[in-house]
Amino acid sequence: MKKITKQIISILSITFLFTSILFSQSKKPEIKAIKAGKLIDTETGRVLNNQIILIEGEKIKAVGADVKIPEGAKVIDLSNATVLPGLIDCHTHITGQSGNRVFGRGGYINPSVVAHLYLMPTLKAGFTSIRSLGSNSFDDVSLKRAIERGLLDGPRIQPASFYISSTGGHGDTSPRNPWVDSKRPPEYTGVADGVDEVRKKVRYLVKMGAGVIKMGASAGVLSVGDSVAAPQYSQEEMNAIVQEAHRLERKVTAHAHGTEAIKMAIKAGVDSIEHGSLIDNEGIRLMKENGVYLVADIYVSDFILSQGKKIGISEQSLAKERIVGKTQRENFQKAVKAGVKIAFGTDAGIFPHGLNARQFSFMTKWGMTPMQSIQAATINAADLFGWKDKVGSIKAEKYADIIAVENDPLKDVKVLENVSFVMKGGKVYKNLQK
Ligand SMILES: [Zn+2]
Repeated sequence: MKKITKQIISILSITFLFTSILFSQSKKPEIKAIKAGKLIDTETGRVLNNQIILIEGEKIKAVGADVKIPEGAKVIDLSNATVLPGLIDCHTHITGQSGNRVFGRGGYINPSVVAHLYLMPTLKAGFTSIRSLGSNSFDDVSLKRAIERGLLDGPRIQPASFYISSTGGHGDTSPRNPWVDSKRPPEYTGVADGVDEVRKKVRYLVKMGAGVIKMGASAGVLSVGDSVAAPQYSQEEMNAIVQEAHRLERKVTAHAHGTEAIKMAIKAGVDSIEHGSLIDNEGIRLMKENGVYLVADIYVSDFILSQGKKIGISEQSLAKERIVGKTQRENFQKAVKAGVKIAFGTDAGIFPHGLNARQFSFMTKWGMTPMQSIQAATINAADLFGWKDKVGSIKAEKYADIIAVENDPLKDVKVLENVSFVMKGGKVYKNLQK
């Protein structure tokens, strides 16, 4: 009996050995070569002419003017185009979209069911990596995993899952109905108060798959309440969130419009400030000194004010937006001038996913050069993600996340609103090049 078992095991292991050899031979990664007429080097801010990008599987193997194209490689001719690394949006809400009709006649639709619809518009717009900064569930974590496992196509996602907020704060999305609140398990909200609770919340979110931690430092434009500016956590609570997240190797970003809240978040040690609308000179100085990124969504205001009524934004929120939107842009310009590090983030989801690139022309209108705005959406964003070794520039060993546009984005950044070629991880998702 023992002998037979041994024989079966050895036959099985030989079969396994052979099939794995066969499998590995048939799965040899495909080699692709892109001929890039112009290539934007986001690390140096220079434009390189007539470059060859060699891609093996999902990674870039070599880049240069005299890289030899191996025989049998699939050649992609972008010699009439400007080629740049895949764009990165540091502030999206990928699991939802304003006016997505989950509420409506005939009943409620679970938003999880429609969340995947926003992936391809984002990717085809040239955004190959995004942060999901607040999802009313762990849907963003699931989307990320489904993409990584090849079940769905979409951008790389760094998910925050729930957004950590004080009771009644910007991220407290309860309908202000005590009966409903009492039925909601604490595991299904980002609400946490006091040093112990916020620490536990960070640990729990990381356990469930959060790749970044978002905390609400001040109120918001689209949430209930009168003040946009008031801090919503004490200094001790903010310190605890950042300390715990950093201990678990997660970056922290703070949703902060208000002057005081911004400074408290910086003092707590956050890696980035979202919005930053009412920042003052001291806040700008603190950001610069501490190397904190500003992620200012300076396009969305135009969308909110022109479409807000149609998509059901309250008059109270619109009134707040009229004041805050303009101030935010003026302060963004001051921060750029002062040399604060800027990363591109749009709040996509408030406006339809896929229109993310509309923000570029606002960034150049408010103080940046086209090259700086592109760097904000590539190498700077990659740095903020902690993914500088993976994405953000077209360099050997990084993921082959590559896009192209037909005209020169350094002359007019608006051309980034119409990308003609998108590759993510070596796979082509869009190619309109003639
Ligand atoms: Zn947001």
